[in-house]
Amino acid sequence: MAQAPSAQHVCPIKASALLQTDGHLSKAIKGFEMREPQIKMMENILHAYNHGEIALIEAGTGTGKSIAYLIPAILWSIQNKERTLISTHTITLQEQLLHKDIPMLVKALGVDIKAVLVKGMSNYLCLRKLQESKQEFRLLPDQEGHELEQIEAWAENTSDGSRSSLSFVPSGTTWDKVCAESDTCNHTACPHYKQCFFIKARREAEDAQLLIANHNLLFADLLFRSENEKFDDPALLPHYTRMIVDEAHHIEDIATDFFATRISQLGILRVMARLTSEKQGKVHGKLPLLKEKIQECCKKNVTSEVNSLVNRLQIDLPALRKDLLKYIVDTFHVFGSFVQTLQSPQASLEQEWKESKLRLLPYHTTHPDWKDRILPQIQHTLQETQRYITALTSLEMDLKSLNNDQLNEQTKGIRYDISALSQRLGLFAKALEGFAASEFHPNKVRWIEIHALRTNPTIQLVHADLDVSKSLVDFLFSQFPTVVLCSATLTTDNQFDFIRRRLGLIPELLPDRIIVEQIYGSPFNYKEQSMLAVPVDLPEPSHPHYQQKACEKIAQILQSSRGNAFVLFTSYTLLNSCYQLLQKKLEEQKFRLFKQGEDNRQSLLERFKAADRAVLFGTDSFWEGVDVIGEDLRCVIIVKLPFRVPNEPLIQARTEVIAARGGDPFAEYALPQAIMKFKQGFGRLIRDKGDRGCVVCLDSRLVNKRYGASFINSLPPCQIQFIQSDHVQKQIEEFYRKTYYLVKK
Ligand code: SF4
Repeated sequence: MAQAPSAQHVCPIKASALLQTDGHLSKAIKGFEMREPQIKMMENILHAYNHGEIALIEAGTGTGKSIAYLIPAILWSIQNKERTLISTHTITLQEQLLHKDIPMLVKALGVDIKAVLVKGMSNYLCLRKLQESKQEFRLLPDQEGHELEQIEAWAENTSDGSRSSLSFVPSGTTWDKVCAESDTCNHTACPHYKQCFFIKARREAEDAQLLIANHNLLFADLLFRSENEKFDDPALLPHYTRMIVDEAHHIEDIATDFFATRISQLGILRVMARLTSEKQGKVHGKLPLLKEKIQECCKKNVTSEVNSLVNRLQIDLPALRKDLLKYIVDTFHVFGSFVQTLQSPQASLEQEWKESKLRLLPYHTTHPDWKDRILPQIQHTLQETQRYITALTSLEMDLKSLNNDQLNEQTKGIRYDISALSQRLGLFAKALEGFAASEFHPNKVRWIEIHALRTNPTIQLVHADLDVSKSLVDFLFSQFPTVVLCSATLTTDNQFDFIRRRLGLIPELLPDRIIVEQIYGSPFNYKEQSMLAVPVDLPEPSHPHYQQKACEKIAQILQSSRGNAFVLFTSYTLLNSCYQLLQKKLEEQKFRLFKQGEDNRQSLLERFKAADRAVLFGTDSFWEGVDVIGEDLRCVIIVKLPFRVPNEPLIQARTEVIAARGGDPFAEYALPQAIMKFKQGFGRLIRDKGDRGCVVCLDSRLVNKRYGASFINSLPPCQIQFIQSDHVQKQIEEFYRKTYYLVKK
């Protein structure tokens, strides 16, 4: 993509001067220190703005990467009146940018720049839907009715109508009833348009030069733009021309998830429930409400047409709904049984379904259960869905033909919602048909997921792209003159090859774009501040004694560090069984234990920081995006190297594609992914120049396998100890003794 001809370059010399020892920031911000890597990174990004480049930047912890990209974004906006979108994965980083970094820079530079956090539409209250739901109060079961009353009271006082400012977390079904959605929003035809919280938020974003969003909203916006001609649609973000993607190592996963089709049993039942639902002996939803409105508005003129409509709402549609619900539930059930039959043929049908995934392969479609049970069941469900949709459509037409203005006016919103929900049923049918198709697309993978919820197992059918690089190129990289992708982990073995291949940042897909890459190491002194210890003689994770040995080691290491440790796992199963083995012993030794899942992440983290001898057992979300500075975290135990589960349908299918073209799936895919995650886990330890601590990896493959060197080479240069497990404790204690001076500094 070419640079806009009118764009004027921002002077790199003036920009760099801001960050120098005697620059604006040093003068205006107490304690601001010039950092050479930060200046270089800022210059690199400014070059990408001035020359319309795509930049890939890995910046180690402490580089100050957010300041390094915010300065070019601010200067560019002042010089060229162009907006930048900054997309991040975590809310923590969004809040840091919005409440700390940007206000600090605006003040220090004395500039008039506005930044706004843009959220997806469903985060906002829809005043029209709230008003209509209020009419449903008396029809609603107690808990939902009570939640709606609380939301109604909050709506009187809230200034932004954003769900995050509610003092409680409403149930999904309650929030569905009142949240803004693109397909149920009737825009300027809505009587609440002028007061609408979402519209106000988008107008505020129009005045901002910097937009901050999450990766999901970024993709939603890019997709919406590609499908819609109307660029003034309020569901879109305001026009932006430059893009900074922070925490960019998540982009492939988010894009895969975003472009995938996911049909969930719970999701479709929630759509049905919004039309009509029966709970605690009460019938509510859009259709019963419509019936009431018709009876109310037409009570003085009850014609045969009116009676026919009421009868349809009272008798025909409930009967159709009952049939359709049964078909939907049975359809998901046959998919679940199919998984169970193939994965645990011995299990009886009454046995509880286990959490599992089954990748759909061509030979499955020749299985007798597929042909004799699944396909006929899907056909019935598709027919019933179509019957229900047709009934809803004819209802709308007959309502119109009553020519009752008062009725039309009073039911406008309800009918709009019914039409949108009916379209969602149509999309469900289309997706279901696509999932059962006999042809297997080479760039697609399909799987059936069983989630063993506490109440009932629930099924999801997923249809995802194996390779999202082409979509990323079309929707993202070829649309903007400047795209900056940055993260603390984008390389493996100091190379960007993996991320470039996965995201499509290769000359074959982007022949006309200049793509630059740069690594900026952390300014911290890892050699002095940190030690990686690996007990070389522990059995490998597949060994039957591994778990017991690993637990013994965890207990010893925690003695040496006196707690203040994260123990990072790659699965809940391993986390839970190690926790069970260790809990009693560690609590007797006065350790304060925290386990992921017992509380939300933020509160768990706050309690961890406040406690003495704290130990947190965590999986996925504690490997990254968590900042614990100082002695509160002085040890990180990595229990297993974080390879993804190889028989996950998506991983397995991607692996096969690489093998089919003669590549090495382990070296090209599994290993680089694991290295990036390992780097993230390692990165939890040193968050400040005064921090010190040990990372202990209990997976001896790090030493005993050839690929172990690639993990080590990808880390910042720290002290490394490959030692017999009997010596680990002594080594760690010695490290803490020798580095005690850092704590006292
Ligand atoms: S404009 Fe749309 S989102 Fe806003 S209140 Fe009206 S229907 Fe709801």
